[in-house]
Amino acid sequence: MAEIARLEKDLNEGRILPGVADGERMEICHFAIKSGGHDPNPGSNNAEDGVTIDLVRLDRVDVAKDRKSVKIGAGLRWGELYLKLERQNLTVVGGRQADIGVGGLTLGGGISFYSNRNGWACDNVISFEMILPDTSIQTITQQSHPDIYRALRGAGPSNFGIVTSFVLEAYELSNPIGLWSGSKVYEWNKFSDLANLNHQFYTESVDQNPNVVIVNTWFQDGGVWLGNVFCVHLTHTDPLTWPEPFQSYEQIEGFPNTTFASIQPLSNITIQQVQPSNRSQRNVVGTFTYRPSAAIEQEIANIVREEADAIETRLTDFTPVSVFQPLSRNMLEKMKVRGGNALGLADETVEPLAIFVAVWVWHLSSEDELVLQAHTLALERAEEAAKKSGLWHPYKYINYARGDQDVWSGAVEENLRELRRVQRQVDPSGVFTDGGLASGGFKLNEKLE
Ligand SMILES: Cc1cc2nc3c(=O)[nH]c(=O)nc-3n(C[C@H](O)[C@H](O)[C@H](O)COP(=O)(O)OP(=O)(O)OC[C@H]3O[C@@H](n4cnc5c(N)ncnc54)[C@H](O)[C@@H]3O)c2cc1C
Repeated sequence: MAEIARLEKDLNEGRILPGVADGERMEICHFAIKSGGHDPNPGSNNAEDGVTIDLVRLDRVDVAKDRKSVKIGAGLRWGELYLKLERQNLTVVGGRQADIGVGGLTLGGGISFYSNRNGWACDNVISFEMILPDTSIQTITQQSHPDIYRALRGAGPSNFGIVTSFVLEAYELSNPIGLWSGSKVYEWNKFSDLANLNHQFYTESVDQNPNVVIVNTWFQDGGVWLGNVFCVHLTHTDPLTWPEPFQSYEQIEGFPNTTFASIQPLSNITIQQVQPSNRSQRNVVGTFTYRPSAAIEQEIANIVREEADAIETRLTDFTPVSVFQPLSRNMLEKMKVRGGNALGLADETVEPLAIFVAVWVWHLSSEDELVLQAHTLALERAEEAAKKSGLWHPYKYINYARGDQDVWSGAVEENLRELRRVQRQVDPSGVFTDGGLASGGFKLNEKLE
């Protein structure tokens, strides 16, 4: 009995290892928080020689009586959540691959197929339930804790505490059968035609019709570079026709037998988006933001292809992937609905932007150095080209950033100052700082001595 009482007291006082004196705990028990485990940066979701807090069992889904919101556990994965909600004719704004976690994606932002219409996942959070570093459990809303609430919407992963659940806005399904999705693969010589279409799509089509989404991906497969255009329409109900905004993509000649279209539940679409071959492999992701232009997309793609091709023959199994995706005016406007993005993106000016993401997948740890060096060079050169053209934008999306990229340099100065203040305020002992106990994420502050 005495042992249990002591254990309970230790846990209540935040001593993760029972029996450890207060002053010692910083040294002995570092930890990491894991939701879906999709962040590929080393140490982001596992603690070597420490404790990994896997949230997997926080998997409850409670729909509110009025069906306007749903409380979801932070350890759920999006595919599983969509499936549960579809049974009730509902959905939420979240990830585009089934096995991504609710926790990491939402706290970093969360770009969804619904984002042109309803904003990012974080823009749809009504409240967060979280364990603060002082071990108290708090419900954070825009009204109760405006500063923490805003900080969690874009700068949240592993900086302020452990979020255990989110209340998200819920939406009735517009078509119970599902969403229209179509895809088509093209050869490299179609890059410029597609980039021209993308430009028009990013800057006009998505604003005229927020029900449409395009993700354009270029990848190297067996020495050949190919492009995939993946389109989603939230309301189109005819699987046999391509909706009007996508018809120009359909008309460009594609690789034989690669055009697919169907109407399926979102849960299915997100399962199809998972690439099983990549699961057990090594991968690195890096990003930057630019103002949409066909010419700069071509230049970025050429640079990245050049750097990837230069190492390809020296690697056992290598898939470099370049992803281009728009941040439309509509999407950015929606950030303001619940008070703005933590980093201040689109606080002042709302102009269409686009995100470039370089995802490189390889097989052997002995090849890490070669791949990581080339990946760094590719990103640096591409970013430099965007800067020279005047189209570079300082924002870096945390969820796609490489561990050594400086995501905070892309924040509005005033927002960054405020984020750092809030972090110190909720975490005076520095558990979630650089040098503190919690690993992972991009730390806002260093631990004070
Ligand atoms: C194949 C692939 C597809 C992707 N697709 C999309 C997409 O469609 N849209 C998009 O926006 N992003 C996408 N991403 C990026 C994705 O959002 C990030 O990788 C995100 O961090 C994954 O969240 P997770 O919970 O799975 O990751 P985890 O690795 O579990 O968590 C990421 C970080 O958040 C912290 N964290 C997690 N949960 C909590 C919590 N409850 N409280 C406090 N901190 C927490 C972790 O400690 C870690 O530092 C994709 C990534 C990959 C690899």
